[in-house]
Amino acid sequence: MLDLCGRGMQPNGQAPVFILREGTERSHGRIAQSNNIAAARAVADAVRSTLGPKGMDKMLVDEGGDVIITNDGATILREMDIEHPAAKMIIEVSKTQEQECYDGTTTAVILSGELLKKSEELISKNIHPTIICDTFRKVGTDLNAIIDGLAHNSDDNTLLDVAKTSLTGKSAGSIKDFLGGICVDAVNRLATSGRVDLNEIMVVKAVGGEAIDSELVSSVVLDKERCHPNMPLTVESPRVLIYNNSIMVQTTEMDANIQITDPNQITAFLEQEEEYLRNLVNDIVGSGAKVVVCQKEIDDLAKHYLAKAGVLAVEKVPKSDIEALSRTTGASILNNLEDVKAGEDVLGQCGLVEEKKVGELPMVFFHDPQESIPVTLILRGGTVPFVEEIERAFDDAVGVVSVAHEDGKVLTGGGSVFAALSHKLHEVAQTQNGRERMATEAFAEALLVVPLTLVENAGLDPVDEMMTLRTHHASNDNSAYGVNVFEGGLADMSEAGVFEPKRVVAQAIKSAVETAIMILRIDDVISSKKVS
Ligand code: ADP
Ligand code: MG
Repeated sequence: MLDLCGRGMQPNGQAPVFILREGTERSHGRIAQSNNIAAARAVADAVRSTLGPKGMDKMLVDEGGDVIITNDGATILREMDIEHPAAKMIIEVSKTQEQECYDGTTTAVILSGELLKKSEELISKNIHPTIICDTFRKVGTDLNAIIDGLAHNSDDNTLLDVAKTSLTGKSAGSIKDFLGGICVDAVNRLATSGRVDLNEIMVVKAVGGEAIDSELVSSVVLDKERCHPNMPLTVESPRVLIYNNSIMVQTTEMDANIQITDPNQITAFLEQEEEYLRNLVNDIVGSGAKVVVCQKEIDDLAKHYLAKAGVLAVEKVPKSDIEALSRTTGASILNNLEDVKAGEDVLGQCGLVEEKKVGELPMVFFHDPQESIPVTLILRGGTVPFVEEIERAFDDAVGVVSVAHEDGKVLTGGGSVFAALSHKLHEVAQTQNGRERMATEAFAEALLVVPLTLVENAGLDPVDEMMTLRTHHASNDNSAYGVNVFEGGLADMSEAGVFEPKRVVAQAIKSAVETAIMILRIDDVISSKKVS
C-alpha cells in the first residue's frame, strides 16, 4: 500500500509514488494522539509546581544569560523555547487566559493537561475520541450554569479580597492589604467615569522610600522637572498648551555651510535666531497659555523667555503622557505653533499645576483637569527591580479587580469551587450511561487537579487531604470549603477571604476544554522539514 509519504511499493510492484515532499514526517492514529498528549502534558507539568500561594518559582535563563525569576504561568511559558506544535497550543491557552482575565493562567494550563491525561486513559479503554470530545464539550457548557449558581455578588470587601488573593505568593504579597486597597480604589475611581479602562491608569515609578509610601492621586503626574529654575513652581487655573515638537530654531535636513565674511554678519545671524525664538514665545504667551508641555526639546533661550513671562514649561515629555494630558485637560496636541494663533480653542484647562518632590525626585502635577479625572499611581520602592516587580503585581491585581467589578461576580478559591463542581459532575454522571458516563466522570476527576496541586505544592498529604475535601463536598452544600494551604485540612475560603473573579474560573475551564478537544481530534501529524 501507498501512504501519503510514498513509502512502500504499490501493489502492482511499481516504484512508490511520492505525494509529499521527501523528508516529510508523518505520524498518525494512536501514535499521533499519544505524542500530542504527552507533549501537552509535559508543558502542564512544567508549570504545575508554581500553582498557589505555596507554589515555587522558576528561574529562566535566556541565551544572553539574562535571568527571570517568576512563578507566573504565562511568563514561564512565554519565555520557554517550545517547538512541539501540540505543546504550543497549550501555551496559547495561557495567553488567552491572561488576555481575558489577567489571572488563572497556571490553572488553565494544568486543567488542559489533566483533561488530556484522563482522555488518554479513556482512549486506552477503547472509547473513541469523538465521544470524549462531544461529552467534554457538553459538560463544559453545562458547567457554566453550575458555576453561576456558586458565584457570590461582589462588593468592595470581596474586591479587596480578589486583589489580595492575586497578590498572595508574589513578592508584593507582603503589602497585599495596602496594594489591594489601591487596586480597588483605582477601579472605583475609573468606574465613576462610567467605563473601567485600565489603560487609563498611569503609573509613575519613583525609586526611593518604601513601597507603602506609594499613593494613588487624581492628577496627571510627569516624571520631569520644569525646564528652567526661574519658572514658577505653581500656577493656578492655567491654560495648558501641548506641543509635540521641539521649540528650537528651525534647522534644515540638508548640510549647508554659511560663509561669513564680516563679523557683523555673525551678530545679525544670531539676532535673527533670537528674534525667531522671541516671536515663538510671544505667540505662546499671547495665546494665554501659562503652562507649556513639549514632547521634544526647548531651546535654552526660549526657556529663558518663557520663564521671564512666568510660564511653567516642561520639555521631553513622553508621548503617552502627552496623550493623557490632552485627554484630561482638553488641550489639542499641536504640531505647528502657528496654530496657537488660532486662540483659546487649542488650549486645555487645569485647576492647578505644581512642581513638587516625591521623595527626592521633582515631578510636575496637573491637578483637577477639566475634562476627566485622571488616575495615577505613584509607585515607590527601594530598588528599580523591586518597583518593577510591584508594578507587574499591581497590573495583575488591578486587572482581576476590574474583571470582578465588571461582572459583579466572584467565586471562592483554594480549589473549593473545583471540588464542588467535581462532585456535582459526578452526580450528573449517575444519570448517564456507558461511555458518556465514563467521560463525564473523567472530567469530574480532572477538575480535582486544582485542589490536588494546591495540596501537593503546600507539602501536604495528597491522599488524606483529597479524601477530606471530597467527603466534605459529597455531604455538604457549602461549596466554600477549600484547601487550607497553611495548616492543612479544610478552610472556609469566604471566611479566609480567598476570592477570585468568576470569569477567571469559567474562562480557565472553557479554554482548557477547547484545547483538550482540539488536541484529541488530531489523528494525523504531517510535518514538512524545512529545506536548508
Ligand atoms: P494562576 O496562574 O492559575 O493564577 P496562582 O499561582 O496565582 O495560579 O494560584 C492560584 C490558585 O491559588 C487559585 O486556585 C487560588 O484559589 C489559590 N489560592 C490563592 N490564595 C490562596 C489561599 N490563601 N489559600 C488557598 N488557596 C489559595
Ligand atoms: Mg494567579
